[in-house]
Amino acid sequence: MARLNLRVLLLGLVVLNAAASLSFAASFEADFHDETLRIDYFHTGDATEEIVSLDQMWRQGIWAGSRTRLVDDLDLGRYYAKAFDADSGELMWSRGFDSYYGEWKTTSKAADGVRRTYHESALMPLPKRPVVFTLSVREKDNSLAEIYRLAIDPADWRIRRDALADDVIVVKSAVHGDSHPRVDIAIVGEGYTAAEADKFRADVDRFAATMLNHDPYKSMADRFNVWGVLKPSQESGCDEPSRGVHRNTSLGCTFDSLDSERYMLTEDNRAIRDVAAHVPYDVLYIMVNHERYGGGGIYNLFCTFTSDNQWSEYVFLHEFGHSFAGLADEYYSSSTAYNDFYPAGREPNERNITALSDPNQVKWADLLTAGTNVPTDWVKAEYDRMDQEYQVERGRTNERIASLMTSGASEAEIEAAKVAGEELSKSHQEVVDAWFARNPTREMVGVFEGAGYASEGLYRSQLDCIMFTKGMKPFCAACDRGIREVVERYGE
Ligand SMILES: [Zn+2]
Repeated sequence: MARLNLRVLLLGLVVLNAAASLSFAASFEADFHDETLRIDYFHTGDATEEIVSLDQMWRQGIWAGSRTRLVDDLDLGRYYAKAFDADSGELMWSRGFDSYYGEWKTTSKAADGVRRTYHESALMPLPKRPVVFTLSVREKDNSLAEIYRLAIDPADWRIRRDALADDVIVVKSAVHGDSHPRVDIAIVGEGYTAAEADKFRADVDRFAATMLNHDPYKSMADRFNVWGVLKPSQESGCDEPSRGVHRNTSLGCTFDSLDSERYMLTEDNRAIRDVAAHVPYDVLYIMVNHERYGGGGIYNLFCTFTSDNQWSEYVFLHEFGHSFAGLADEYYSSSTAYNDFYPAGREPNERNITALSDPNQVKWADLLTAGTNVPTDWVKAEYDRMDQEYQVERGRTNERIASLMTSGASEAEIEAAKVAGEELSKSHQEVVDAWFARNPTREMVGVFEGAGYASEGLYRSQLDCIMFTKGMKPFCAACDRGIREVVERYGE
């Protein structure tokens, strides 16, 4: 019944929104302070039920985002945060996002009714008048259903204004100017001890350069500010629980997230936000001082990567594609923890994959190479065979490393197994890259089956892309356009 009432309320707001978006001309200065309001809340539930409850609110730093594009019309992400003027009902600000909870609820455990709680934050400009803050979740039919509603009076004495911690190091790496018209990236260090602060500074500069030298970021480099922020950790590295490694680090990053060995995330959202608050930021990169292959990226939440693996630069750009531009994974054969990540029969909102429900209405029709067949034949069976052999071998290698590490094997034996694992990954990718180079479709923009964790029924725009296989390769045409579209949303 409560849910039904929410739906009725939401319907009313949808009507108000439509009117408001037409008349939306209020200037930033009339409605907002140039300051960030951080709303922290807990997100609890399983696959079928979700509950949101308030933690605390904070005033922290200037508003880093756009002052003219306050309403997010990209329609990306499984959740939307919105703020409405409490008196007029006018939509003043919104932002689409994904969350750790959103991934949790697609797992088998959540389907079995296991509940978990994740801490989340919404960052919006501090309003000058009372607002109604809401959270909505995307339903299977792609509509948004409200799950949480909170009245916020910006004059409320409960909104905290604590001074920031004084043990945080800030690095101005590639700062091109005023934060409002730029994308401000905070690279937050994890698993660097105080003695490794210089390594952190060098790593921030190295990855800032990696990003700003890769298109399409390269062609828009002055639209980005890159900051480094570090709260030194007690120990180096991060947790690798299935290998028996547990480290005391400032952000709590861990491999084995959602039981996937290479998936590295943190559940300690409050710790990340408290450190990142030292700089103006729109997006977060978490850089983990480690040499193992791994990372993760969740749209408008954060991405993670390790600093010293042979694939670190690739992982950094790939995961940022998820967390910044909401791009989908274009690979489909690696094991993942999700069930039905993209519901059948629905066109994914991500710009780089399509369900191709109508071959005459291709999502990137204007980018297609003339004369390309839709869908485009790319000798998929041959690729699948190569990949399957590799996945089996990779699984064996990872199991061997974990069993050596948890059974007290010698350092030399463990190191040799890790080196063998890295060599396997490198040699496999060399074989795949050579195969791509011989493939007659390699330069084409077409519609290639296999994407978004689905071998059939989802398609990508080019044979290869940095969102598909490993290596410092270009973004495909659909990804390139998706990234440019998002950068535009950060204007002025
Ligand atoms: Zn792509």
